[in-house]
Amino acid sequence: MCDHPGCTKAGEHRAPRSRENPDVYYWFCLDHVREYNAAWDYFQGWSEEKIERFRREAITGHRPTWKLGHAGYRAWAEGRVRDEFGVFGARFNGGQAEPPPAEQQMDARQRRALARLDLDETADLQGIKMRYKQLVKRHHPDANGGDKAAEERFKAINEAYSFLMTCGYS
Ligand SMILES: [Zn+2]
Repeated sequence: MCDHPGCTKAGEHRAPRSRENPDVYYWFCLDHVREYNAAWDYFQGWSEEKIERFRREAITGHRPTWKLGHAGYRAWAEGRVRDEFGVFGARFNGGQAEPPPAEQQMDARQRRALARLDLDETADLQGIKMRYKQLVKRHHPDANGGDKAAEERFKAINEAYSFLMTCGYS
């Protein structure tokens, strides 16, 4: 039977329960697997923390700073995408929880990316850009005679910076 609460159709289509356990499945009817996959695909590649932050901001009416020209955003903000399957974690079911302090809102990956640029959570967009320019200059392969360690460091800096630019700084 379909795992969607209250649905009595045959559960013939499987969907992973969570990113942490992709081998554990729900079984849904066609309609409900489509609904589930639509919510899942929309947030693909986002960290759990980022999804939660997005969800919280949508609930409180605070428009996220990153661009979301998607019908998905509206659906989300209007509460039409419900977290019946726990895709987004138990913490926000109900959506009434007090937001955690700012430093807890930052997810681990973002913190790591900042650390890679020798910055902490207080860094703003200007600070990140300035730091990135300094580090790129210092670690650019051309400036280090093809040194392998410098090349790795250069790559890591670029990855960290690219990621940070997706984190909603403005
Ligand atoms: Zn169903």
